[in-house]
Amino acid sequence: MLQKTSHFMRQANFIDGAWVKADSGQTIDVVNPANGQTIGTVPRAGTAETRRAIEAADVAFRSWKRTSADHRAKLLRKLHDAIMDNQDALAELLVMEQGKSLAEAKGEVGMSAAYILWYAEEGRRVYGDVVPSPWADRRILVTKEPVGVIGAITPWNFPSSMLARKLGPALASGCTAVAKPASQTPYSGLAWGVLCEEAGFPKGVVNIVTGAASEIGDELCENPLVRKITFTGSTEVGKTLIKKTAGTVKKVSMELGGNAPFIVFDDADIDRAVEGAIAAKYRNSGQTCVCTNRFFVQAGIYDTFVEKLSAAAEKLKVGSGLEEGTQQGPLIDEKAIEKVEELIADATSKGAKVTAGGARHPLGGSFFQPTVISNATPDMRFMQEEIFGPVAPVFRFETEEEAINLANDTVFGLACYFYTGDLGRAFRVMEGLKYGLVGVNEGIITTVEAPFGGLKESGLGKEGGHQGIEDYLDTKYVCIGGLGL
Ligand code: NAP
Repeated sequence: MLQKTSHFMRQANFIDGAWVKADSGQTIDVVNPANGQTIGTVPRAGTAETRRAIEAADVAFRSWKRTSADHRAKLLRKLHDAIMDNQDALAELLVMEQGKSLAEAKGEVGMSAAYILWYAEEGRRVYGDVVPSPWADRRILVTKEPVGVIGAITPWNFPSSMLARKLGPALASGCTAVAKPASQTPYSGLAWGVLCEEAGFPKGVVNIVTGAASEIGDELCENPLVRKITFTGSTEVGKTLIKKTAGTVKKVSMELGGNAPFIVFDDADIDRAVEGAIAAKYRNSGQTCVCTNRFFVQAGIYDTFVEKLSAAAEKLKVGSGLEEGTQQGPLIDEKAIEKVEELIADATSKGAKVTAGGARHPLGGSFFQPTVISNATPDMRFMQEEIFGPVAPVFRFETEEEAINLANDTVFGLACYFYTGDLGRAFRVMEGLKYGLVGVNEGIITTVEAPFGGLKESGLGKEGGHQGIEDYLDTKYVCIGGLGL
């Protein structure tokens, strides 16, 4: 059914099928980053509310795990249809709290629906094995079962789709969930409660709690009823959560920070590379984990690439996400702007040159100009630090080996991109890059059909693809003896 945006904007938590306030009555303000105005509030829940949500999810798990995969798939398809019927309203809500352009927000909501549909189908293909037995009178079965209650913690940059990648496989496999959305963008997370309720999921199967991150996080990590933590966010918080889950030996999936390199070789199609660079850098104002953090361009085409990228960046339309034609919205907050300014100041003090943008946008608030920086060198902070803003530092290199070494010189290993017209080089470079996602002559590669996930300090586990459901399953070996054969 078609609903208004306000229908999805719940200022309450969803626990055991009821919409509730925090025990303390305390709330958190939610601010629109495009104008600094408060849109509304959400409960500031803590340990007690989280524990109740976990207990509700545990009770719900006992019956939910016994439902058939076909039944769960039907409910997930209803959920998919509810999202797509309300794509515009959900996208508008997302823009209001997150700031991205309406076109990008619609894309994100569409992606959320696509994850749900994908896992509706994958849940019906959770196959076990019948293994040839070494004993004549025994048979060996290997079965897959849902892990139980899962705790899901998500970031503010993709508040809808990051939860879709977790709820989809969890619900399809027969798990129940307690989710904690980011405090800056809680409404797109709470909207999942509205959608699941209306699609007909039983009470307690999905619970959404907002509030004090460390209290909610600690309870999710330490409560023995929770059997898996799935987290998307910074590497720093991810490491803390891994440590905290050790006490109860939970499964963990971690989608953490990135430091994506984008390499352009002399033999590349430069215009195609510039087009890919714009998409891979300025999407969501540079605030994605797979956004390019470092451009490495071969000496022979360096000046041309910088010139074309700067011209393309300057053409991007900056504005409120809800305005027609906006390509880049505001950054999430003042802190994000200050970080970008610090990184630019560090680079220019070490000899870098600003060739596009470089300053706050005349619109004020947290709007920043799409920026290109040439003469970047490895001693500058963005060589190692995630920028998370619309700044494109361009480094120069001479040889293929040098480019691979520079690209790999980071603790992160999420996404990387490179452009070349040489097939042999494409394979050499692809095999040389220590990254979980590789775009060859493409700047946007995420899709529900493929496994998404980082290497090194960018994370553990995969989301999407047929691999994405594995982390929600326990494997059990069953030996049936005494068959008298
Ligand atoms: P963040 O600060 O790590 O926060 C992510 C989530 O963790 C939020 O819900 C936050 O809650 C919560 N949190 C913070 N401290 C916590 C604690 N001590 N215990 C439990 N939960 C805690 O990250 P962010 O700034 O929102 O997101 C940006 C980061 O996410 C970037 O590093 C980006 O690369 C990464 N990211 C990775 C992927 C991927 O798939 N690999 C995708 C998107 C983003 P509050 O909001 O209440 O503080």
